[in-house]
Amino acid sequence: MRWMLLLFITLSLPALADPDYALKPRQIAEDTWLLEGSTDNFAKSNGGNIVNTAFIVTEKGVVVIDTGPSKRYGEALRKAIATTTDKPVIQVLLTHHHPDHVLGNQAFTDVPIGAFAGTTELLRQQGEAMAENMYRLVGDWMRGTEVVLPTQTLTPGVQSFGNHDLRLLSLGGHTGADLTILDQKTGVLFAGDLVFYQRALTTPNSPGLSVWLADIAALQDLPWTMIVPGHGPVATDTKPFEQMRDYLTWLDQLMRDGAAHGSDMAEMIRSPIPERFAGISLSRYELIRSVSHLYPRYERGQMRRVDSGSLN
Ligand SMILES: [Zn+2]
Repeated sequence: MRWMLLLFITLSLPALADPDYALKPRQIAEDTWLLEGSTDNFAKSNGGNIVNTAFIVTEKGVVVIDTGPSKRYGEALRKAIATTTDKPVIQVLLTHHHPDHVLGNQAFTDVPIGAFAGTTELLRQQGEAMAENMYRLVGDWMRGTEVVLPTQTLTPGVQSFGNHDLRLLSLGGHTGADLTILDQKTGVLFAGDLVFYQRALTTPNSPGLSVWLADIAALQDLPWTMIVPGHGPVATDTKPFEQMRDYLTWLDQLMRDGAAHGSDMAEMIRSPIPERFAGISLSRYELIRSVSHLYPRYERGQMRRVDSGSLN
């Protein structure tokens, strides 16, 4: 048996020493390529590749949307782009500051890395702690990864890259500073993490679920033909919006009711998850996190209601 163990260790060593994301760009629309991550949580088995990144090959060069969870991912993305087109990378656009979307920036320091001012500020404040957490969760894949801040401040409106007019929208339901990009040539909507599809949404920086619900309505109104969520499969129908609206409304109501009944956090995280969300990955795990992020606000809101009631 020992030799088998030895053989196993020998065979698995090279893979551990040099983990490979094996990124394969998939064309989803004219000039438009997607690198679809898994809908799992960060793990040593996936190197943090739980995120969708994308690139658009314009006449002028390549526009990259989000850079992934690590330096290694950023480098792999750059290689994957080079296998797809001879055009140079000319621009990076970051949808928001979360680590799985921006820690590949190191591979793109030769081009403008654009983000909204709020995103840069959040990354300045939280980047180091988020990167540390990523090292803990995915280990070796992170080697050499450092936080690189955006080098260009984006403003909402239309920016043209070659023959692609990209409409940059400033929203805020997920982090307070969220960029969504509508490619007006193809109709592809890069929703960032305002849209999670078949994967439970995350709330560590959300200003509130009502803000997020308003963003979903605004996005759905745009003239899109395809939705690229930050996490989960692309869609050409309204299902991702419907799922987001259903899930956010449920989560909001759950916490309102809990606060009204005086439930504590321990009870809240054990709440039943409706059967219709069974296909959504990580719903229990993210319910626990969302309750810890957001429930104290609902409790405070309830206390205020009781307070003002007692004045009458
Ligand atoms: Zn995020």
